[in-house]
Amino acid sequence: MRDWVENEQIIIEKGKGSYLYDTNGKKYLDGVSSLWVTVHGHQKKEIDQAIKKQLGKIAHSTLLGLGNVPAIKLAEELIKIAPKGLNKVFFSDNGSTAVEIALKIAYQYWENSKIKVQSAKPQLKNKNYKTKFLNLKNAYHGDTIGSVSVGGIDLFHQIYGPLIHKAIQAAPDAKEVEKILKKRHREIAAMIVEPMIQGAAGMLLQPKGFLKAVRKLCTKYNVLLICDEVATGFGRTGKMFACEHEGISPDIMCVAKGLTGGYLPVAATLTTDKIYNAFLGPYESKKTFFHGHTYTGNPLGCAAALANLKIFRKEKTIQKLRPKIKLLQKELKKFYDIPIVKEVRQLGMMVGIELIDFPYETRIGHKVILEARKRGLIIRPLGDVIVLMPPLSVSIKELKEILKITYDSINTLS
Ligand SMILES: *Cc1c(COP(=O)(O)O)cnc(C)c1O
Repeated sequence: MRDWVENEQIIIEKGKGSYLYDTNGKKYLDGVSSLWVTVHGHQKKEIDQAIKKQLGKIAHSTLLGLGNVPAIKLAEELIKIAPKGLNKVFFSDNGSTAVEIALKIAYQYWENSKIKVQSAKPQLKNKNYKTKFLNLKNAYHGDTIGSVSVGGIDLFHQIYGPLIHKAIQAAPDAKEVEKILKKRHREIAAMIVEPMIQGAAGMLLQPKGFLKAVRKLCTKYNVLLICDEVATGFGRTGKMFACEHEGISPDIMCVAKGLTGGYLPVAATLTTDKIYNAFLGPYESKKTFFHGHTYTGNPLGCAAALANLKIFRKEKTIQKLRPKIKLLQKELKKFYDIPIVKEVRQLGMMVGIELIDFPYETRIGHKVILEARKRGLIIRPLGDVIVLMPPLSVSIKELKEILKITYDSINTLS
């Protein structure tokens, strides 16, 4: 906050397409999709209209004990596009809650299924032993306590050590995952991964075949697989969902960020019939999933999400990404000419440009984004990794401009 107070502050007033406008009327390209959410651009006519139309009916009604029309329609649409087998949808309002819900469902699934796991300690026989989670090193799944518990970024997470439930961590290496699962599967309820690419970690790519191997291992060792598609979902990686790159279906999937096209906070946790069925039973069996956020399934947000998905179909958004992704691949190679660039990583429209090691206090990433602002581009770094994640609707011309400004901004600091 001291930084914010002492430095020039940019206050955004308006957005249109790939551009943001501040209160002084200065125009910037939105290079990170307003924190990884904007899909078809700002002030997208169809989404604006869908929200207005829904406003003419009702802004909010509860999903606790009632249904609402847009939420039901959205659940149907999500199931149609989700990886096979994900047939049930539980709504909430942000990525962290979508993850909390996934963790609680996974834990309670084993509790409810009465699949009591054989324990090494005979006196504890018939207890549910599957109470732990396995996550990847450098994982980011949100900022609430439950999602921090399966996080692996020391800078964000270490301080909360005493508050969290301790998870088991693995490197993104199938052999290491197998070693852990082989030894500890009896105590592991689920493994959680960001599929293909770890976003907040600095756009870290997983080895080819890793996700597929994880799916196989989780099945083999009777551990649920949670895929956190909060960042990767809705076209960001060049496919609707990152899971499609390796043709896998998780047992539970979390979506948020791009779900409403970047308009309103709606999230969803999807799961299979098998898991859903484990929560059914007579009232007194207490298999209920006691979890419900007040604004869950908000009709305005769901109307925006429905319009968002309709545009994907109508405008063939995913197919149209191909030339943009190609351009990124080609142009990003040139960044290696800059002396302070260490590595460039990319999957679809998600890009991380890692700079060489500077002392923490140099804030080199921050310096780069200040240079970019001067040149009319808003980006936000992850430490010393410069992130580019423009709206999927970005034009080739705008994308070239984003790349040029980013190049120049890094280059002047070399
Ligand atoms: C952003 C993010 C979250 C958290 O979402 P919020 O809406 O900020 O709570 C969770 N998981 C991943 C992979 C994310 O990128």
